[in-house]
Amino acid sequence: MTDPKTERIEKKNCRRKCAGGGANAGGCACGAGAEKDGGSGGSGWMTVAKIAFSAAALAWSLFAPAPVVGGTAVDPAWIAVLLCGVPIAIEAVEALVRAFDVKADLLVAVALVAALASGEIFAAGEVAFIMALGEELEDWTVRRARRGIERLVSLSPRMARIVAQDGSERMVPADEVRAGNRVRVLPGETVPADGTVSDGHTALDQSAVTGEPMPEDKGPGDSVASGSVNRFGAFDFVASRDGTDGTLQRMIRLVQAADARKTRMVRLADRWATWIVAAAFATALAAWLATGEALRAVAVLVVFCPCSLVLATPTAVMAAIGNATKHGFLVREGDALERLAGVSRAAFDKTGTLTLAKPGVVAVESVGGVVSQGELLRLAGAAESRSEHPLGRAVAARAREEAGRLAEPESFEMVPGRGVRARVGGRAVAAGTAGFAGSSAESDEVARRWRERGCTVVHVAVDGSPAGVLALSDTLRGDAAESVAGVRSAGVEPVLLTGDNEGAAREAARSVGISEVKSACLPEDKLAWVVASEAHDRPVCMIGDGVNDAPALKAARVGIAVCGSGNDLAADAADIALVGGGMKGLPHLLRLARKTRRTIAAGLVFSMAVNFAAVALAAAGLLPPVAGALVHNAGSFLVVANSALLLHFKS
Ligand code: ADP
Ligand code: MG
Repeated sequence: MTDPKTERIEKKNCRRKCAGGGANAGGCACGAGAEKDGGSGGSGWMTVAKIAFSAAALAWSLFAPAPVVGGTAVDPAWIAVLLCGVPIAIEAVEALVRAFDVKADLLVAVALVAALASGEIFAAGEVAFIMALGEELEDWTVRRARRGIERLVSLSPRMARIVAQDGSERMVPADEVRAGNRVRVLPGETVPADGTVSDGHTALDQSAVTGEPMPEDKGPGDSVASGSVNRFGAFDFVASRDGTDGTLQRMIRLVQAADARKTRMVRLADRWATWIVAAAFATALAAWLATGEALRAVAVLVVFCPCSLVLATPTAVMAAIGNATKHGFLVREGDALERLAGVSRAAFDKTGTLTLAKPGVVAVESVGGVVSQGELLRLAGAAESRSEHPLGRAVAARAREEAGRLAEPESFEMVPGRGVRARVGGRAVAAGTAGFAGSSAESDEVARRWRERGCTVVHVAVDGSPAGVLALSDTLRGDAAESVAGVRSAGVEPVLLTGDNEGAAREAARSVGISEVKSACLPEDKLAWVVASEAHDRPVCMIGDGVNDAPALKAARVGIAVCGSGNDLAADAADIALVGGGMKGLPHLLRLARKTRRTIAAGLVFSMAVNFAAVALAAAGLLPPVAGALVHNAGSFLVVANSALLLHFKS
């Protein structure tokens, strides 16, 4: 974050966003002060000023004599009515007229008019103020989630892999790509510039660029657009334009995604609005008809306004997101935590999630006399040089150490969850699971031996014959067992979903203490398992890191991506991103989610109880409008204070 380059990009993002984006102007992470937003920049500070003015005006109205203007005393609460109330009323009327949509705001608007008509300026201003505050807090929650995204982006600066004349690769920041450069893109990576494919085949997910959700096949001669995500193969392309700022593009896309999902979240007060509005009007009318006192009806309308209801959810979510961030979890959507509270299973991926993302090659054994040991490593390394998989990277790195530069594969294909196929120096090389690459009795025996020592094994075949086995130390994360135990004690059943074979899966599951295991999963098997579990009313929290986990992350009630290997596809598919490794915060996150849900429920129940009591008193004529508005405020204050406790919640 302190790197001057990242900062420059962030500033640029902010400018672009603020210029383009209207409502989302506040809360830019410029300079990235963690606590300094509350509405910084753009419309943010306008809203803060509006709310502060209104609060001051209300305090004046309550505690000091009204100023006299032109011979008559004018209640300063008018300021709150005008600043906060008028926009709400306009919006409510618009919604009603345009879409015949009854929103909670409608009740507020009617209560405002009724209160003003009967001269209860303070009560009107007070209600308008609280409603505006609730709305602003809700926006703030969204902005806060967005800041998490910004951090995620700035933590993984976009890079491009430039291929030099001699075939060597060099990583440069995406915006240093120049027209004419040859650029390589591995599976799961984002295309850093526009250009034309020169070599290789793949499918690109262009939803970020064109909005088209189906991946499109690309081969030599096809054009590719900056910002699309590479789904399967590795390919080279020649940039036709200088690299655009990939960070910016990605950011805009993520922000749009977050916004699109936000619209699906309906405010609780609005979900019940029709009932609240109907009950309020009926009670007010009954009180009026029964007693003939219009003021009672006004008081009923005022206390019926769902003020603490609109405050309960956003304040709790906001505090909980802040808490989660401290533990390394970036929550991309406000309602992800609420959803997390309902999960009953946690599905862990193995390689890269429970194990470290950096395995090392511990043994190379050739079998059947197909190739020598050195040749085996060189061929496997060349084939894996275009893989994004942690195992593939380890193999390529080791081969480079031993053999220097690796041969360029003439073709490359990766099959998520199984392995890679490539043509190297005219030979067909396959590396991956036994079922994928093929195995012989001899290689199975070698593989078994290494597995018994806790290694992950990659089978290699050359020209269709099993040629050897690579053993990798795929060490479990130090905190894996502890995290799994914590997840279980939080009442969530851990499950292991892995593409690795049964033996390795059982061994890993035993060491971390998971009893339910599903091994040899292709990405679609993981997806199917998640979908089936959800269908059986056992919502899943999926935790994964790779391309092969992306579909399951998306389908799960909540997807948590373990970031670090720079895999865009997994992070894009998830609701929550875990940055900086270490899963030991997971049990805390689960408990925090439950606590958040309880806090919201408590806030709602409490505020409804206060409302009902106040309505009864108002109808009975014991609570005049001003007192009613104050009772409201006390209730709201307690709800907000209770929510704020979540910020320091410890499990
Ligand atoms: P997990 O689901 O545990 O993260 P993956 O689905 O990524 O594991 O991989 C499952 C198995 O597929 C690995 O254990 C490995 O045997 C094989 N595999 C996948 N990709 C590769 C690759 N690039 N090179 C070698 N083997 C691979
Ligand atoms: Mg994985």
